[in-house]
Amino acid sequence: MSSKDKDIEKIVYGPVPSRRLGISLGVDVIPYKTCSYDCIYCQLGRTTNQTIQRRSFVPIDQVIEEIREAIDQNSDIDYITFSGSGEPTLNRDLGEMIRRIKSFAQIPVAVLTNGSLLWDQKVREDLSWADLVVPSVDAVSKEIFNKVNRPEEKLRIEKILEGIKVFCQDFKAKIYLEMMLVKGINDSEEEIKRINRFVQELNVDKIQLNTVIRPPGEYTVRPLDEKKLLEIKSIFDPKLVVELILDFDRATNRAYQRDLEEAIIGLLRRRPTRKEEMAKALGVHTNEIVKYLQALEKSKKIKRVKIEKESESYFVIA
Ligand code: SF4
Repeated sequence: MSSKDKDIEKIVYGPVPSRRLGISLGVDVIPYKTCSYDCIYCQLGRTTNQTIQRRSFVPIDQVIEEIREAIDQNSDIDYITFSGSGEPTLNRDLGEMIRRIKSFAQIPVAVLTNGSLLWDQKVREDLSWADLVVPSVDAVSKEIFNKVNRPEEKLRIEKILEGIKVFCQDFKAKIYLEMMLVKGINDSEEEIKRINRFVQELNVDKIQLNTVIRPPGEYTVRPLDEKKLLEIKSIFDPKLVVELILDFDRATNRAYQRDLEEAIIGLLRRRPTRKEEMAKALGVHTNEIVKYLQALEKSKKIKRVKIEKESESYFVIA
């Protein structure tokens, strides 16, 4: 298989406003929806290539070149962040890419990972070059894990949790553990207590509680309200640093582009559009579009509509 497998127009995108990392230059080294999980809350839609096989997907030189160009053009990047269309640790060149970035850029490198492959020593070695790793733990019980993350069939929760534990013991830089909460699925007091017991052993810098934004196609997925999030926060050991991730706030966000917001509205005035079509039409990454759609939905300028038999929603003017 060639290393030029990723058939999307952009590897490096943004900088985009990130709820966790400020102004983040996104690096997407995975083909669209190639992932070891198929989370019910995934904003990108269903996983179309579910795998735990690590591979080369993009030429390393191209990634480095695009990052150099983006840094030259943007002076206020807070993080270079590997995330995007799937699970970044599935790219077996991840370690080399991070090492090369560190050789010329002073900007910290973050990797957002679902944590499912941390039992693999090579994955842990690759991540050891990063400045911040954000693994997810949405559940520790087998049944709830299977329900929320819908893992690749060979993955077992016990092995994943063990991998996360070993990684957290060895990793020298910062770790934020993320937990995505879905109403009625992984928000019970019992499960949160079990998660609390697990994270007490980890020595992470902080735990970030996040809740879902309704994803395309999964109409049963519901977010938690702030009261419930605060209740959940209070279940954790007070010695742990636990924070709520608040919504992306365009008013306080330096990277929010009014032009892009207007371009989205302009497009939707002409016809109902799905997010991938919007990304293509406007020449930006899907992840970037998702943030704007979120803000526009919140301010009730647009809404989504479901068309029968189609898994993806369309967006229209509200
Ligand atoms: S791990 Fe991330 S990319 Fe993969 S299905 Fe879950 S939310 Fe989507």
